[in-house]
Amino acid sequence: MSSALPASFSDLGMPAALERAITDLGFTTPSAIQAQAVPALLDGRDIVGVAQTGTGKTAAFGLPLLAAIDPQLGAVQAVVLTPTRELAMQVADAIQSFATHLPGLTVLPVYGGSPFLPQQRALQRGAQVVVGTPGRVIDHLERRTLVMDQVRFLVLDEADEMLRMGFAEDVDKILSRAPQQRQVALFSATMPTAIRRVAETHLNNPLEITVARQSSTVTSVRQTYAVVPFRHKVGALSRVLAVRKADAAIVFVRTRGAAEEVGSALIEKGISAAYISGDVAQGDREKIVDRLRTGALDVLVATDVAARGLDVDRIGLVVNFDVPREPETYVHRIGRTGRAGREGEALSFVTPSEQSRLRQIERTTRVNLEQISIPSPADVSAHRVQAMLGRAAERAEAGRLDLYRESIAVYLAQHADVDPIDLLATLTALAVGDEGPGVKDDMDDELDRARLAPSSADRGDRGERGERGERRRPSTHIAGGPARWRVAVGHRDGVQPGALVGALTGEGGLTGKDVGKIDIFGSFSLVDIPGGLTAEAMDRLSRTRVAGRPLRIRMDSGPRTDGARTDGPRHESSRPGHYASRPTHGPRGRV
Ligand code: ADP
Ligand code: MG
Repeated sequence: MSSALPASFSDLGMPAALERAITDLGFTTPSAIQAQAVPALLDGRDIVGVAQTGTGKTAAFGLPLLAAIDPQLGAVQAVVLTPTRELAMQVADAIQSFATHLPGLTVLPVYGGSPFLPQQRALQRGAQVVVGTPGRVIDHLERRTLVMDQVRFLVLDEADEMLRMGFAEDVDKILSRAPQQRQVALFSATMPTAIRRVAETHLNNPLEITVARQSSTVTSVRQTYAVVPFRHKVGALSRVLAVRKADAAIVFVRTRGAAEEVGSALIEKGISAAYISGDVAQGDREKIVDRLRTGALDVLVATDVAARGLDVDRIGLVVNFDVPREPETYVHRIGRTGRAGREGEALSFVTPSEQSRLRQIERTTRVNLEQISIPSPADVSAHRVQAMLGRAAERAEAGRLDLYRESIAVYLAQHADVDPIDLLATLTALAVGDEGPGVKDDMDDELDRARLAPSSADRGDRGERGERGERRRPSTHIAGGPARWRVAVGHRDGVQPGALVGALTGEGGLTGKDVGKIDIFGSFSLVDIPGGLTAEAMDRLSRTRVAGRPLRIRMDSGPRTDGARTDGPRHESSRPGHYASRPTHGPRGRV
């Protein structure tokens, strides 16, 4: 690749009609990926483009794609696959805008969740370019409402996202059904082996183009982490959000259960928050995202699936409530901030045992994350006071203060011993609405310890000790944990053993083999887990819902005499004291 990149679109060898269209759009200089991809694609080559969002990929494939099409021919000649419906619409719009000087050229978005028939009719009327999600494209292929005989150009946009969303098979199928004489352009933010495999299988000697992230994106996102024990995550998150400078924040969680749990906890603490997960209906999701965009909402708790492609400029802070399992997910998550050239921060919560996962992310992204500490209660109060004082001048300007001034004067006259500064401080505390920072609590002690201690995973020598002091497996298994566990759902909730196994193997990270006998009683159930549970799994499980109720899993100390337990619910309700209750760690703690 020559180092002197074309300085203008006219150096790229595009048809005049396309050049005019991009001049109309106000594009003057091709971006790095455009400068490299456009000539190669015009030349008939397949390409693999590794580039982050915002690098101008749509024009990089959209322009050569249009150059390859015969607008006189009514048949579908190009297919673009995107992971989501939003992207399909967005990309179709962009390509249509590049085609303004190509009369008769129609770009049609097709995606699931919207009626089939209008799409089918539009296809019959003759669209040359189809932009769609893999699932819906397959549907059309199977109904023969979409025919690919004349397709000569295929694009996989955000290929890594498509695979992560489970579209691997669909993508394979679509590529296999396209004519052999065709060009393929594959774009992806990251290059995991699964993507390489797609390229090796379906692309013909592709030219690989990698563009560095635009410097505006990397440098504008500050990447930090904080060591936070699992049970303090919600408390820590509330404080982080309370002192944030950003207009809006997005909090990423791994499961929809966690989205609900964390989202509700924030709302309860008076934070302007909402949560979305994959099973929130499309229409509702769009409404929530709109509220975030307009400022009616400040914090969105979301799963990776739900936040895909989300593009909201106000988001100045991304919090990874969990460390993502794959570095690629991390890259996608932090791409939600620092948009449109703004500053952003990405903060990841890691539990003490997860620090090695962080190292892996650092290696992959080649960025060292900076450790920060969670704001203290005093920091939160100070922030609130500052925010309030920041509004004082404006309020004073607005006037209509006489009544207050008089009331204060009367009060001070009646209380000669009260110092006006003390009175102001008291009123500020009331207005801010907290009880004042006070002393540090347990959470602060634990946060300090977690922050300062080297991780057990890094040292590898800190196995937990059992009751008798013997060494246990060097994991976070509960020391001396009994084999029997108790969960707070039972017959009353219509719970079946399968649902419990599902929760334990899903949220709890166990395998089917780890779960032994299950006894279901009226309002609770007992489960044998001979290998024990990690502290983390236990915390996760205590919040997991089965049949709509939180499991609140805890060790079962059982009735003192064996056998009585089979009495079932009556036994439980009549002798509740026989089940030692350990406090479960719900989201709590003051902000
Ligand atoms: P990506 O798909 O890589 O995330 P897009 O193709 O969506 O990026 O482009 C991001 C934004 O940049 C769009 O608003 C697009 O109109 C604009 N853009 C793309 N190429 C150029 C260019 N050469 N000059 C100016 N703006 C551009
Ligand atoms: Mg794109």
